[in-house]
Amino acid sequence: MPLPDPIQARLLAMLHNRTDTLQAGDPVPEPLVLSSAFSLPQTPAPNRTYARFTNPTIEATEARLSALEAAPCLLFPSGMGAYSAALMALLKAGDTVLMLSDGYYAARNLVSDIMAPFGLTLRSCPAAEVLTTDLTGLAAVVVETPSNPGLDVIDIAALSARCRAAGATLLVDNTVCTPLLQQPLDLGADIVIVSDTKAMAGHTDLLMGHVASRDTAYMERLLSVRNLTGNIPAPHEAWLLLRGLETVELRLERMCANARAALPLLKASPAVQDLLYPTPHPQALDTGFLIGACFADAATADQFLKDAGFAAMTSFGGLHSSGDRRARWGDAVPEGFLRLSFGIEPTQALTENLTKALKNLPAAG
Ligand SMILES: *Cc1c(COP(=O)(O)O)cnc(C)c1O
Repeated sequence: MPLPDPIQARLLAMLHNRTDTLQAGDPVPEPLVLSSAFSLPQTPAPNRTYARFTNPTIEATEARLSALEAAPCLLFPSGMGAYSAALMALLKAGDTVLMLSDGYYAARNLVSDIMAPFGLTLRSCPAAEVLTTDLTGLAAVVVETPSNPGLDVIDIAALSARCRAAGATLLVDNTVCTPLLQQPLDLGADIVIVSDTKAMAGHTDLLMGHVASRDTAYMERLLSVRNLTGNIPAPHEAWLLLRGLETVELRLERMCANARAALPLLKASPAVQDLLYPTPHPQALDTGFLIGACFADAATADQFLKDAGFAAMTSFGGLHSSGDRRARWGDAVPEGFLRLSFGIEPTQALTENLTKALKNLPAAG
């Protein structure tokens, strides 16, 4: 996964964000500041007043994320917190928003269940049709690429040109790729949403999300939404994210390498029927750490996770290889379908375990 120079420069800026400004005697890593109130004399007026607006640890984490996104960035307490604020800051009564029918289910439900009574309308189409469906009359288009769990790739530059022509704002959920592997804003998207709960934080121990955009007026409105809805994370969680971000490149490198090493084993195994893996596309630097694999039935899928030592859990992007049987969440996939997320285990030991686990399973289909 050799990163191109501009992305290396963003990573360097993220890692040197604090060290570039250290004074003698300063703590080198980012200190955690839990304070909710700040000294507030009449003059001079401080730019920090109260923690519902911001806090030094929140600012420090946002600065790291801004370096990675090469764009202004605001933090929210979860990916869905980021979605709700991003849509609230953008849309108004009477607007219609297009989302993927095979995208993250909670994003659709947010619009259809929570925002519909405020006058928003949801339209949906599968990822495979978003480059051909009619965009007339839409206020916004929200996509994920690769989609989840189908792992269909959408050409962001092509979609962004279509959205511009139709007068629709393009929002890209970049959770699966992260800003290291894919840069939607550079490809013409207006707004990026990321659930940092997944690979960005990477340790499966917190919820977090962010929104990034180079549209200054939009970011001002988004900050206003966050201030007035109180949709800001706690400093400790933000600090844990900051700590995770500093190793994100190393973790992603191993996670992607492990997925790459597992792919031929899964492909060759009679126990696996269909494999889903994103089609390599120049817009993403790597095909990532997620693989969809279909086993004979639910029991065989569960047996595989147990024998291979993969955690049976939802969510993805953590240190430990894991799998989620998506049919239990209502995704349109067979009962034996697993979305596998590869962790940072040593590659050889992991693939040996996988080989053993696959040998003991009945053939699929
Ligand atoms: C997990 C996820 C979300 C929601 O994020 P939370 O942090 O769980 O609120 C949104 N989009 C995608 C693609 C996700 O995987």
